[in-house]
Amino acid sequence: MKQSAKKEVIIIGGGCAGLSAAIYTARALLNPLVIQGNLPGGQLTQTTEVENFPGFPEGIQGIDLMERMKKQAERFGAQFLQTEVKELSLIDERNKQLHLSNGETLLAESVIVATGTYPRRLNVPGEQELFGGKGISACATCDGFFFRNEVVCVIGGGDSACEEALYLSKLCSKVYLMHRRDVLRASKIMADRVQKNEKIELLWNTLPEAFVADEQGYLRAIRITDKETNETREVACKGVFLAIGWRPNTKPFEKVLKLDKEGYICVNGTLVTTSVPGVFAAGDCVDKKYQQACVAAGMGIQAALEAERWLMGV
Ligand code: NAP
Repeated sequence: MKQSAKKEVIIIGGGCAGLSAAIYTARALLNPLVIQGNLPGGQLTQTTEVENFPGFPEGIQGIDLMERMKKQAERFGAQFLQTEVKELSLIDERNKQLHLSNGETLLAESVIVATGTYPRRLNVPGEQELFGGKGISACATCDGFFFRNEVVCVIGGGDSACEEALYLSKLCSKVYLMHRRDVLRASKIMADRVQKNEKIELLWNTLPEAFVADEQGYLRAIRITDKETNETREVACKGVFLAIGWRPNTKPFEKVLKLDKEGYICVNGTLVTTSVPGVFAAGDCVDKKYQQACVAAGMGIQAALEAERWLMGV
C-alpha cells in the first residue's frame, strides 16, 4: 500500500461544490488536492446551456463554466487527481485515510466531500440489458447524437426531463415525454417551453412497464400502461432517456459518516459539518431539496471556510 504525504485538505469531487471549495481553500493557502472521479467537472459538464448561474446574462455552456472554475482553482495552486475514492477511514481526529481505486492511500487532516449524485434507474424489465449503448441512456447531451432523426422518449416530469426533451427535439424526428402524472414537476419556464415545442408529445399518466429489444438486441419499443384506463400498449422508439431523479454518491463514506435513509450525508447547524469532526460535505450529496449549481457552489464555499476554521482550531 502506497501512502503519500499528509494534506491539510482533500476535496472529493470536481463538480460545482468541489471546485468552489477548491478556489476558497487554495486562496487560503491550504494547498488543496481535488480528487475528481470519473466525471471531472461533474453533472454540469453533461448539460447544455446554463441560464441561471448569476453573472452570465447570456447563459454559459455547463462545460465552459466548469473549466473556468477549475482554472480559477488552479490559479491559486489547487492540485487535481483523477481517480475514485473507494473508502474513507479514520485513524484519529486529525488523520483521515482515503483509499483510492488505483491502490493508493492518501492521508488528510480535513476532508470535503462533494461527490454529487448519479441518475436513478426505473428497475423495469429490459432496462439493465439495454442501458448504456443499446438504446437506454441517462444523458441526452452525451448520447443524443446517436439518435439523430429517430424517435426517442424521455421519462420523467422534472426540470431534467424537460431539458433533455428540449435538447433532443433539435436532433430527433420526434420526442415523447412520458410522465407518471398529469402535471409536470418542472419549473414553469421549462414546462412551457416543452408544451410549446411541436416535436415533443407528452404522454401523461403513463408508466413504463418494460423495454422491448429488436432481434439485434437494441431498443425497439417501450411497453407502457395508461394509469387512468389501465390499457397497455407499445410505443415504438429507438432511444430512451431516463430523467427520474438522482441518488447520492456516498457509498465510500457509509461506514464513517452519518447518512439519511436515502443515503444523503447528514449535516448539522452549519449545513456542511458532518457527524465526523474535520469532515465537511457540500453540494448535491447533501442537498436533496434544491440541487442547483449555485447552491452547490455556495455550500462548497461554506465547507471551505469551515475546514479552514477547523484546521486553525477555532
Ligand atoms: P426531480 O425534480 O426529482 O424529478 C424527477 C421526475 O421523475 C419527477 O417528475 C418524478 O415524478 C419522476 N419519477 C421519479 N421516479 C419515477 C419512476 N419510478 N417512474 C416514473 N417517473 C418517476 O429530478 P430532476 O428533474 O433531475 O431535478 C432535480 C433538481 O435539479 C430539481 O431541483 C431541479 O429543479 C434541478 N434542475 C434544475 C435545472 C435548471 O434549473 N435548468 C435543470 C435540471 C435540474 P413525480 O413528479 O410524479 O414525482
